Amino acid sequence: MSFKLITIPCLSDNYAFVVYNIENRSALLVDAPEADPINEILSKNNLNLEQIFLTHHHADHVDGLDGILKHHDALTIGAQADVHRLPKLDKYVQAGDEISFQGQAGQIYDVSGHTIGHIALYISSQNILFSGDSLMALGCGRLFEGSAEQMWCSLRSLLSLPDTTKVCSGHEYTENNALFALTIDPNNRDLIKRSENVITTRSKNLFTVPSNLGLEK
Ligand code: ZN
Ligand code: FE
Repeated sequence: MSFKLITIPCLSDNYAFVVYNIENRSALLVDAPEADPINEILSKNNLNLEQIFLTHHHADHVDGLDGILKHHDALTIGAQADVHRLPKLDKYVQAGDEISFQGQAGQIYDVSGHTIGHIALYISSQNILFSGDSLMALGCGRLFEGSAEQMWCSLRSLLSLPDTTKVCSGHEYTENNALFALTIDPNNRDLIKRSENVITTRSKNLFTVPSNLGLEK
């Protein structure tokens, strides 16, 4: 079976992701910032949306859900810890659980910090991590609910994943993250080089996401 990943820009700087089975066009969507661009990608690629996975409760990750479900009858999945503040979903999961999409196992990680109850999904057969607003390219999500220790602990739990893992995070924040990182570590040559790459990529209006876990480590 072979799969393809599509990165979908939404709102001003959000990303949603679709993974689909090339043979039968069944798709998994990660996060639902807004319905229109996602519905458009699904119909343009003739995809049958089977599942929707939500990383956390923030509006810029869930507000498109109703508009997507109007057109697609998909199984919705989110964090058990956020039952009280997520839209009503079909299935709730927690760290250590496994979900299955088209026969591929996906492991659930607790990556609290940005919010408490934030989850990430790792599909090992595809070597993809959907990290939402936890681990991002050159940074991590803002600490709205958790502590720095909690975020650090969440990020450390991802260290055991392979360096080649694609990191699909929820926003295009990389250029700002690079500029901030340079204020802390201005003489780091790897950081300077990567920042230059990021600035070039963004000047061409290209995405810096997905990133690569080896690079983030
Ligand atoms: Zn968020
Ligand atoms: Fe967000």
